Amino acid sequence: MAAVKHSKQRQSIKEYLMNTKEHPTADMVYTQVRQFYPNISLGTVYRNLNFLVEQGEAQRLTCGDGSERYDGTTTPHYHLICKGCGRVLDLCMSPLDHINTLASANFDGTVEGHTVLFHGHCPECTKASHIQAKT
Ligand code: ZN
Ligand code: MN
Repeated sequence: MAAVKHSKQRQSIKEYLMNTKEHPTADMVYTQVRQFYPNISLGTVYRNLNFLVEQGEAQRLTCGDGSERYDGTTTPHYHLICKGCGRVLDLCMSPLDHINTLASANFDGTVEGHTVLFHGHCPECTKASHIQAKT
């Protein structure tokens, strides 16, 4: 019975991750799933998130600001963190596979991948700063 309950909680976390573009932190996931499972603990949320990451059903993003965020989109893609509001957004762009080749050029070891995080302003913060600049 307990196992069934736990898998339902995990399913609920997974569905939330797959249906949001917010790249939530564990705290945000906790706030969300507590609406359906009021007795769930933050520890359980962390355990489920770790499990989903280990199973390749979600990815963990290390965001430079010290926060870790979760993404239900597991296909390779890139992110931008907004300096204005702190949101993490998906960037629609072709993969930068050639930078692995560039990194390998003068390196005797083996380059197997890369982590790229773009910094800047999201569309809303960009608009807001343009409005401010005009007034
Ligand atoms: Zn922003
Ligand atoms: Mn993403």
